[in-house]
Amino acid sequence: MLLNQRLRDSIKAATLQNALEHDGKAKEDAVIGKIAASSTEFRSNLKSIVPAIKEVVLEINALPQDVQKLLLEQLGSAGSSQHTGLTEKSHVASSIPLPKLENATRGKVITRFPPEPSGYPHIGHAKAAIIDEYYARMYDGRFILRFDDTNPLNEKLEYYEAFTLALEWLNIRPDIIKNTSDDIELLYDYGRKLVLNGDAYVCTCNQQKIHDLRSKGIECDCRKRPTSDTRNIDNFFDGRFNQNEAIIRFKGSMADQNTAMRDPTLFRIINGHHPKLGDKYRIWPTYDFAAPIEDSLDGVSHAFRTKEYELRNALYFAILERLGLRKPNMIEFSRLEFNGLPVSKRKIKPLIENDIIKSWDDPRLPTLAAMKRRGFIPGAIRRFVLSLGMTLAETKPPFESLEAFNRKLIEPESIRLFFVKDPVEIMIQNSSAREIRLKNHPNIDLGTRRIKVSDSIYISKEDAIRLRAGNEVRLIEMYNIRIVEIKTEGTKLTILASWSGDNIRPDIPKIQWVAKNDDRQFEILVPKELYLGDIYNVNSLEVWKGLAESYVTHLKPDSKVQFVRMGFCRIEGANSAIFTHK
Ligand code: ATP
Ligand code: MG
Repeated sequence: MLLNQRLRDSIKAATLQNALEHDGKAKEDAVIGKIAASSTEFRSNLKSIVPAIKEVVLEINALPQDVQKLLLEQLGSAGSSQHTGLTEKSHVASSIPLPKLENATRGKVITRFPPEPSGYPHIGHAKAAIIDEYYARMYDGRFILRFDDTNPLNEKLEYYEAFTLALEWLNIRPDIIKNTSDDIELLYDYGRKLVLNGDAYVCTCNQQKIHDLRSKGIECDCRKRPTSDTRNIDNFFDGRFNQNEAIIRFKGSMADQNTAMRDPTLFRIINGHHPKLGDKYRIWPTYDFAAPIEDSLDGVSHAFRTKEYELRNALYFAILERLGLRKPNMIEFSRLEFNGLPVSKRKIKPLIENDIIKSWDDPRLPTLAAMKRRGFIPGAIRRFVLSLGMTLAETKPPFESLEAFNRKLIEPESIRLFFVKDPVEIMIQNSSAREIRLKNHPNIDLGTRRIKVSDSIYISKEDAIRLRAGNEVRLIEMYNIRIVEIKTEGTKLTILASWSGDNIRPDIPKIQWVAKNDDRQFEILVPKELYLGDIYNVNSLEVWKGLAESYVTHLKPDSKVQFVRMGFCRIEGANSAIFTHK
């Protein structure tokens, strides 16, 4: 059974309600019972609904309770509060505090956000950067933006810039901005030192051999060469090897259970033009080598990173130990991911390079440039990230919880307007021409607008095809009409109707409309899930064409509107918008 919106909302509402009654953890059976009891249609299809219920319960149980409250509140205001029986309003704290740090002293906390400028920043980077900066501010410390730019083949000036702009947009202000590549000579010195101390070695085995021995846990001959033989180290740093002829490896332990400790690479030779250093250097430290040294030298007191680096923590500390450098506190949090969205540069970049997606700000992407373009605002992203807290849990939050924060913030500033998709004309027989005045927001003073209405209006095709002669509908904020006749000529539909009253009636459907002569061609770009499971969704970007009220042309690019019965959008141009969320 295809999950329709009503069912989806009912499952969510029941789950949220149950979660809130049980300390944030909904019980599957209780939700199934509630859904079964709520409608005979659901009950008779229960078997096919249960997997969806299980999925929703998992998703919702992963959320903090204040987010659950917010989501329930918004489902309620969307019209399903009857299902939930919830009337009480709840509030999400405007700032949700993160727990205190261990070993932290006021004024002495230094954090850093270390992106590789190998693509555009995404919502996952926002999470890392917001947490990093948050703690620096909490302790009156300092926050460093450090570009980990040690692979000339990956980095581009455009990407450094994209990160800087995105942080500015998020209102994150680094106290220091630096590049790992600024310290390349210093990193060479530490590399030499490790080799001369016998803690690292030049390895000239080919890649296949390195791979094989590593998986078997066996040492190679290069490792066994006496430390006193410094020929190779000079050859290496003097640039006498070609790419792939030699690397420097850490002397870890080839038999270690943790494969990250099996003599990992510290330096490799890469021929490529570096956006900051040009062609001067060919020997590049790896992230594993540069990160601990940079953190230590930059005075980082608390180094945050995502849990997937867990196995590499031992290496991080081993490098500092052998070099006798200060060790920062290491703190981990979970990587932010969403279903159906690639929250990773590594996954987004091929989509751009293979021309599947044209630009990094395509509204289907989770990049910050795309989120901005789509109408998400920085405050919502910050609240959402803080609401997730410092958990290590691998569960993916539903994208709707991010939307809920955004909706709450943009709702008061979004003008309500009408848009009709695939317009169908209705001739209204006995209506006199009138001018009506509409409020731009139901309960906040965002001004009013006047519309001249004659005997012809447009409604959306979606609504039109449901109408039958004799039906009554209300044209929102105007009057009721009765359908007299529906004519089809080829694919063209025209409807004849007559005025049937001014009073609001709860028993008839309400639809939005656009008056003839007050209509403007308008287009809305609607991003859908980019992936369905693991498969690229070829229909992930819809373009809705239709008519909007002329008032839309008064709105400046970047303003937020709510198209009635459709959702929130960000105005992009004079006649286009991007769909933000419901
Ligand atoms: P990718 O390049 O695939 O986006 P990455 O981890 O290699 O991922 P970096 O630019 O090296 O990306 O990451 C910079 C910082 O941002 C790191 O500290 C990393 O842990 C953090 N980060 C990256 N992606 C996420 C994510 N999805 N959720 C939370 N933090 C993230
Ligand atoms: Mg990386």
